[in-house]
Amino acid sequence: MMPKSTLHEPTDTSHNVDPSEIAKFERAASRWWDANGEFKPLHQMNPVRANFIDRLSHVAGKKTLDVGCGGGLLSEALTHRGAEVTGIDMGKAPLEVARMHAEQSGLTINYHQTTAEEHAHNNANTYDIVCSLEMLEHVPDPQSVINACATLVKPGGSVFFSTLNRTPMAYLIAVLGAEYIANLLPRGTHDYTKFITPAELSHACRQTGLSVKKITGLSYNPLTQKFKEADTVAINYIIHAVKQSPH
Ligand code: SAH
Repeated sequence: MMPKSTLHEPTDTSHNVDPSEIAKFERAASRWWDANGEFKPLHQMNPVRANFIDRLSHVAGKKTLDVGCGGGLLSEALTHRGAEVTGIDMGKAPLEVARMHAEQSGLTINYHQTTAEEHAHNNANTYDIVCSLEMLEHVPDPQSVINACATLVKPGGSVFFSTLNRTPMAYLIAVLGAEYIANLLPRGTHDYTKFITPAELSHACRQTGLSVKKITGLSYNPLTQKFKEADTVAINYIIHAVKQSPH
């Protein structure tokens, strides 16, 4: 039977990090830039999500924060488009990979081992753009990350979140299909109960003064092995929200 969600039951609000989640990404870090390894879906998704962010926020010259940056796929894609990127993550090994890859690619990106919440303490209203892609489903309390992202972005600035919807289809494709049938991802990569519906994510944004501008599905075509923007948000989706300016 499909498990029910425990999304709103944070296990540790004082320190919003799940060590077992971080350990999963630490173990796989050396293969982060292997386009055919376990991060293949992130590689396949990267051009479409970077284009989406660039189209809506014109990243060139913009101070941009990538929360839960991992090995730096999005950080590099946005740097290539002219953004001035800071990447943060709680995984040490993914950050080492990210730093090394940026250096080899001749890119300047600031990487720090920290959480969104901690970074927000000293960096309120600092970034033009804050992104946190494919991370909310790995933290105990997603609302706390969303609040921190809202603090970090400047008034009028943009925030982007992407995650997996909590639908039977997402369970079938992202959990059973990818982890158990295709063996594309290690078993246990995704916990269905942590998937977030677009309505929940929109509500969480509004709770913290972010106004939702756009929600777009990211749908995968197994024949072309590519993601594209789509009307259906049944599995993967990305959301664009803007921080309201004080009146
Ligand atoms: N955003 C990247 C990587 C997604 S994988 C991309 O889409 O390409 C999720 C990442 O979130 C991992 O690198 C993991 O280490 C990180 N992470 C999980 N919980 C975190 C937390 N509480 N704070 C910071 N990073 C976290």
